Amino acid sequence: MSEIEKTRKVENVIIVGSGPAGLTAAIYSARANLSPFMIEGEEVGGQLMTTTEVENYPGFTKGIMGPELMTIMREQAARFGTRFLSKNVTKVDFSNRPFKIWVGSDLFESRAVIISTGASAKYLGLANERRLLGRGVSACATCDGAFFRNQKVAVVGGGDTAMEEANFLTKFASKVVVIHRRDHFRASKIMAERVLNNPKIEVMWDSEIADVVGDDGVTGVKVKNLKSGELRDVPLEGVFIAIGHKPNTEVFKGQIALDETGYIVTEGKSTYTSVPGVFAAGDVQDHVYRQAVTAAGTGCMAAIDVERWLEKSAHV
Ligand code: NDP
Repeated sequence: MSEIEKTRKVENVIIVGSGPAGLTAAIYSARANLSPFMIEGEEVGGQLMTTTEVENYPGFTKGIMGPELMTIMREQAARFGTRFLSKNVTKVDFSNRPFKIWVGSDLFESRAVIISTGASAKYLGLANERRLLGRGVSACATCDGAFFRNQKVAVVGGGDTAMEEANFLTKFASKVVVIHRRDHFRASKIMAERVLNNPKIEVMWDSEIADVVGDDGVTGVKVKNLKSGELRDVPLEGVFIAIGHKPNTEVFKGQIALDETGYIVTEGKSTYTSVPGVFAAGDVQDHVYRQAVTAAGTGCMAAIDVERWLEKSAHV
């Protein structure tokens, strides 16, 4: 028998991904006696592992550090019997039941699957941007905006997210500089106009961030004008990267319906995907809300959907 055919028992539900959506799905499905198996990925915990303080997750009056919140959620899922594997899924086959999921040469089979692999914010790819992530560099204004009260911040990007984040940040920041690589925004007209008419926002057109400056926290950015080549030092305390997100769906391509930007398509107000028995929760199917609490909410929905689907399909 080849390595690939060395199958274990058929699981009730395999949860792929270990952010708030996956862990909430695990807590609920474990408590429903489904004994979930989570393939949590190599970057355990998802996007919250790269944030500092989370102040908007209900239940924590004084806020909580992102990594600590994920540790607590994982312990809660483990308490009810979730089993974990900290590796990445490398291949899936959803064409027949039980569904097949590979981690390298190891094959796992399951009656139902919950995909909660999340999305990753895109970054500029600068070494100092990475080093100062969570210390002035952020990809989420809703999460981190309030830390920049009366400070100057930059937003990079020219799409709807950048517009939304720039406007939102004016509630806290003394000044917001939008840095965009072209001479017009791709964002919808109404959202672009809000930015252009906001007296607290300045736009630097045809510009890109050449470097992020700071030792323990951001103290400024070097901005390059792409038309003149001129390099300018702009002192500020925060940099919000809003150049888009990429859903982590590469491994599911061709197996399940994705929209034109790669997000998993779910049916109405449910977590059903195009394949009966495969469900999706969290940012991997949501490019609108993208919050830990909404991800957790859809994780709960996915577990309930799985439980009912397994009962209905008599697959338990
Ligand atoms: P978009 O892909 O629409 O925009 C990304 C922006 O980032 C573009 O302006 C792009 O520049 C710029 N960019 C991309 N890569 C780089 C780079 N390496 N360096 C510098 N700039 C870069 O992403 P969004 O996240 O803004 O939006 C995603 C989707 O979500 C869209 O469909 C949007 O409409 C939707 N959305 C809707 C909202 C709403 O309606 N309330 C709110 C937020 C998002 P360029 O323009 O030159 O390509």
